[in-house]
Amino acid sequence: MRPFELYQPTSAAEAIVLLTRHGTRASLLAGGTDLLVEIKENIRAPDVVIDAKHIPGLRDLSVSADGGLRFGALVTAREIETSAAVKASYRGLWQAVRELGSIQVRNRATIAGNVCRASPSADTLPPLIADGASVSILGPAGSRTVLLEDFFTGPGKTVLATDEIVTGFAVPAPAAGTGKCDIKHGRRKAMELATVGVAVTITMDGPTCRSIRIALGAVAPTPIRTRKAEAILAGQKPDAASIAATAAAAAAESTPISNIRGSADYRRRMVDELTRRAILAAMEAAR
Ligand SMILES: Cc1cc2nc3c(=O)[nH]c(=O)nc-3n(C[C@H](O)[C@H](O)[C@H](O)COP(=O)(O)OP(=O)(O)OC[C@H]3O[C@@H](n4cnc5c(N)ncnc54)[C@H](O)[C@@H]3O)c2cc1C
Repeated sequence: MRPFELYQPTSAAEAIVLLTRHGTRASLLAGGTDLLVEIKENIRAPDVVIDAKHIPGLRDLSVSADGGLRFGALVTAREIETSAAVKASYRGLWQAVRELGSIQVRNRATIAGNVCRASPSADTLPPLIADGASVSILGPAGSRTVLLEDFFTGPGKTVLATDEIVTGFAVPAPAAGTGKCDIKHGRRKAMELATVGVAVTITMDGPTCRSIRIALGAVAPTPIRTRKAEAILAGQKPDAASIAATAAAAAAESTPISNIRGSADYRRRMVDELTRRAILAAMEAAR
């Protein structure tokens, strides 16, 4: 592995100073399950690595009835997976982390790392976007908050400046009558990147869909929300025909590529089928 200088700042402010000083020569390290692999395989060659793990205050996870879910940038996939509160109220995210890599990977991998790596197929992005999550960012000018759906600008690219770090996430509390579902489709059951990912968060008022958010992964340069599809069901009483129309609209909004994991046509068809299934499962969970 190519040598690099390692810094272990003990405050967020110190990390920002280091990032400002070293610019594009530096990479922030969290669990290292992406970064260290990329360094080892010469995909990235930072001269400076800034280990975020000694920054205090980034490991908290809390769920409150009115304030929603909040968690810091060092919270791991395994901590999300083992949170009973996340399982109860943020089921799409919980389903997604259970399928992220292996238990060894989940013990190290942070959600912030999954988000900041910005892979279009990253597992946690669709359920967090479907839930309306926002990202807290800290830089030399102070802090700012960005909706996760606006965070990604391309494969591996985000709105983060080189001297900014993600400090945590906020996910709104689900309204009464909300159901969620996340489906990851790959070529095999475990240790697989998604060929298609679909997450649905729906809020029902009796037979009427009060609101719905549909987010897709691995079928566009960034994870996407399918607003045209959502508009078909919002305010309506979903039935087989309108759910099928919504799923077809989601497939039409996807812009997948063909690669080793599947052709563009196959991916579009799977978006159609899995969106239909995810809507039905989320509606069932909303009862
Ligand atoms: C064997 C294996 C299997 C995997 N399987 C899956 C899978 O099934 N699904 C999936 O989605 N992923 C998978 N991954 C990818 C990886 O585990 C995740 O993307 C992980 O969540 C990254 O988190 P990390 O803490 O390890 O990030 P790191 O590797 O430490 O960092 C990743 C990137 O994010 C940046 N970063 C990290 N934290 C911050 C922050 N707070 N602020 C700003 N930038 C930050 C880093 O600079 C780096 O660019 C797998 C990886 C391995 C090695």
